[in-house]
Amino acid sequence: MSAVLEVDGLQTYYGKSHILHGVSLTVGAGELVALLGRNGAGKTTTMRSIMGLTAPRAGRVRLFGQETTGRPPYRVASLGVGYVPEGRKIFGHLTVHENLLVPPETKGPWTIETVYQLFPRLAERRTSKGGRLSGGEQEMLAIARALLLNPKLLILDEPSQGLAPVIVQEVMRTVERMKGEGMSILLVEQNAFLALQLADRAYVLSDGAVVYDGAAAVLQADRDRMEQLAGVS
Ligand code: ATP
Repeated sequence: MSAVLEVDGLQTYYGKSHILHGVSLTVGAGELVALLGRNGAGKTTTMRSIMGLTAPRAGRVRLFGQETTGRPPYRVASLGVGYVPEGRKIFGHLTVHENLLVPPETKGPWTIETVYQLFPRLAERRTSKGGRLSGGEQEMLAIARALLLNPKLLILDEPSQGLAPVIVQEVMRTVERMKGEGMSILLVEQNAFLALQLADRAYVLSDGAVVYDGAAAVLQADRDRMEQLAGVS
């Protein structure tokens, strides 16, 4: 399987704080890979290093076979990477529709029309301000906005965070559907139990280092290990 994303030996710092200690991971074409770990393990820092939001001091990032280490975020995104950051980061003062007009037009199946079909709730709320949406609606808007870039790789940072269980299931069904359509996905989750239900493979981070790298099903079947590594109770 050809690699869509290859991360090799990332060393990332915030000032003097050494956060990532040689993180390596890959996502193959059409794969759904989970990146798990407790609070503060370094998951978001790994995403930021991949997206060019925080430059790693050492290590390499390759996307679709091209070295992208140190490139600015807009150049990384323009290669075909949709990033849904933690906390969603939608524009609260713009309406749903205006939020969807922000991404540049790209070629592919995802248009404002088709994302409204995917999330009918967003179509109903198209004139509501982003800041007035529920957490679940904001997550859907953030995913819709990323899909408009027609990405080949979708990176989701903790999509379940702060959502009611029934909404989490809806968001996860959407992720599953994206995978069904052939998209490669890196799903960052603190909720390992949830992510392992969908993932092909998983990595677990602890203190900025990979402590598990293998099939999602293996970790899912070993509850004790999952609990010990990723802190699921
Ligand atoms: P969470 O689930 O809480 O988001 P995470 O696994 O995504 O956790 P990171 O956000 O990558 O973890 O944080 C890793 C470590 O880096 C933590 O110890 C955190 O306190 C620290 N950290 C994060 N952002 C900064 C920053 N801007 N400056 C200094 N330290 C930071």
